[in-house]
Amino acid sequence: MTLQLARSSVGARLADLEISRAWLVDPATGREGPGEIVVTDGILVAVTWLEGADADGVDAGGVIVAPGFIDLHAHFREPGNEDAETIATGLAAAAHGGFTAVCVMPNTTPALDEPSVLARIRAAAVLSGSPVALLAHGAVSAGRMGEQLAALGELADAGVVGFSDDGAPVRSASLFRNALAYAGMLGLPVVDHPEDASLTEGSEANEGLVATVLGLRGWPGSAEAGAVARDLALLAEVVAEVPGARLHLTHLSTGSSLDLVRRAKAAGLPVTCDVTPHHLALTDEWIAGARRWSWEAIGSDGAARDPWRDGAITASPFDPSLRVNPPLRSASDAAACIAALVDGTADAIATDHAPHAEVDKAVEFGLAATGISGIETALGIVLAAVDAGRLPLATAIAALTTGPARVLGPRAPGGDRPRGLVEGAPADLVVFDRSETWSVSPDALASRGKNSPLLGRDLPGRVLLTVAGGRVAWEIDEPTSD
Ligand SMILES: [Zn+2]
Repeated sequence: MTLQLARSSVGARLADLEISRAWLVDPATGREGPGEIVVTDGILVAVTWLEGADADGVDAGGVIVAPGFIDLHAHFREPGNEDAETIATGLAAAAHGGFTAVCVMPNTTPALDEPSVLARIRAAAVLSGSPVALLAHGAVSAGRMGEQLAALGELADAGVVGFSDDGAPVRSASLFRNALAYAGMLGLPVVDHPEDASLTEGSEANEGLVATVLGLRGWPGSAEAGAVARDLALLAEVVAEVPGARLHLTHLSTGSSLDLVRRAKAAGLPVTCDVTPHHLALTDEWIAGARRWSWEAIGSDGAARDPWRDGAITASPFDPSLRVNPPLRSASDAAACIAALVDGTADAIATDHAPHAEVDKAVEFGLAATGISGIETALGIVLAAVDAGRLPLATAIAALTTGPARVLGPRAPGGDRPRGLVEGAPADLVVFDRSETWSVSPDALASRGKNSPLLGRDLPGRVLLTVAGGRVAWEIDEPTSD
């Protein structure tokens, strides 16, 4: 592989780049293999697939070139909680993670429930100089209070890509039904955080062995599956009247809720969903101090193994960085998240990047703010699953590119252009090296949120270069070449 790095500053147009003898992954056409790309003046001018002797020695274990990733779900905390993250630091973290487009959630202060808040965060994105595309979901309800609908039409005109009260579910079924109908008329999805809050009040960790042993209050899986079932029942009725109605369920974490989506899709309902990197690879036993991946926590009989009997406990229990909503689940739920990606039930991997200031995390486990700072570790976690043979590389890349683009529809970055390696279009891509690891540390994270349970761990897949809209978004310090 030869890679001449751009050595230009973030935000600058990528004048000239040639990558030869790398492994190209193009999810738009389903093709992957040895190839070369050339970028001139920000435009991807040539994509060449190598064959025969030219392709010798190039495999999928080294440098990968793929379209830039799209994150359907991130929290950048501005306005209102800039100690945790700003638009500028969030966009820098996204670029470091290989993402060239990010949809931020509206649970800021004030909430993104009217166009002036969108204008404000867009201004912050322009000021940051980052070329990463900042997209936003508008709130479903005014102030995210769950009482009356936000100004959905005005928000749609201003350019939001969907509607969500994320951070909390929409408790009122009748409000949710109206939201599905109005958003459907506007051609936009409603993105729900499915949680029956009456079942999760005071909950601390997934209901099961780990919560019982540690004395944490259980968080039942039925709180998610029940909310998913409600949303699907409402969608089935609304779509009969409003054919454009669309539901997107975010951060599904249990086998039973994914089964509901699988059946709804088979019945033809317009529903999509995503899973997070942490729910597919981490489990509740991490709270007890285990540090093995989810697929290592399942025995040959398919049953979850007991971390205490296995001697799998290697860290202190109650790390507050592991408190997340929905909670880390069992190994079999994590396996269900992976299976859903493989069979297409899950359309996307979304990070639910949730940075927090240290003061909100350095407390007792059950009092810690929920969320993981995850946009920079997403690729590494997903590649760990690929390395373990649990997820095909092409499926993983599609779940980070064409999958989320399909959820966004015409408002995806690049519009109707396929999310692939498209000659003649502005270069929008990520280059990473699967053979290189990087060490997750507070200094290595561009995010202000250092609340990652992966601190101190080495992850595969170092991002070498991220290019968004023909401009440099991220570049490693030292050039590599062999
Ligand atoms: Zn959420």
